[in-house]
Amino acid sequence: MTFAIKNHRLDGVRWNATPNRSSGTITPELIIVHDTAGSSFSSSESWMTNPAAKAAAHLLIGRAGDIVQMGAFNQKLWHAGSSSWKGRQYCNGFSIGIEFDNPGILDKHGAAWTGRRYDEAEDCYSEYHGHVMALPYTEAQIETGAEIVTAICRHYGITELAAHFEISPGRKYDTTPLFPLEKFRSIAKGNADPDPIDADPDADGTVSVDGLNLRRWPSNNDNVIAVLNHGDTIEVIRSGVYANGFPEARWHLVKAASHPELGWVHSAYVNLI
Ligand SMILES: [Zn+2]
Repeated sequence: MTFAIKNHRLDGVRWNATPNRSSGTITPELIIVHDTAGSSFSSSESWMTNPAAKAAAHLLIGRAGDIVQMGAFNQKLWHAGSSSWKGRQYCNGFSIGIEFDNPGILDKHGAAWTGRRYDEAEDCYSEYHGHVMALPYTEAQIETGAEIVTAICRHYGITELAAHFEISPGRKYDTTPLFPLEKFRSIAKGNADPDPIDADPDADGTVSVDGLNLRRWPSNNDNVIAVLNHGDTIEVIRSGVYANGFPEARWHLVKAASHPELGWVHSAYVNLI
């Protein structure tokens, strides 16, 4: 799906105006991605359109790829708070905020601040977050998000994208390490392919080298859980581009026939059929 922008709105997307904004207009130069840290699409939409929240973003993208727009892209919405990007303070004045429906960083049992526990939570890692638990984003919301970022960047000539934690370090932790931030940054720069980010989950393949490390996280830190050998059969669960350990490397989360636990392998060492 491709999106068109008319009058600073995504054409054909549901509109629910938020009061949580300043008057006047902005020229957007940056996209900021967020997690809602909410329990559902509808509760997050209700909250961000409630004046008591004093917070809202331009777009909310649900786990089914559903979308609502709450402010025009040239309106100053209150999503970033105290923040700075490349020496410029208060990013609300020059950025578009996109919220992804995700409970955010979870506790070690996979529970959110709401008390709800997520069975699908995963152990993940980034230099900023360290080792944390988080709920994977869905393919639908990442693909929808990628198409929207493509449309916004082309329309406004935007080339920069940041996660909230990058503009408010020490104060904010969204998005989680499971968000494909480097992929989204390269979309903003205009050099990403428009194809879906995730591999065909049914694709099977083989390992192309002896001694391939199956890792707990997509990084080359000390996290090897097994060693795979040439010819081992793997099933790709999902794929993504991660900056940890290698510059913007593509990694596959796989189930290897020879090992019971899921793990990550660097894409250079597998042959996908
Ligand atoms: Zn945020």
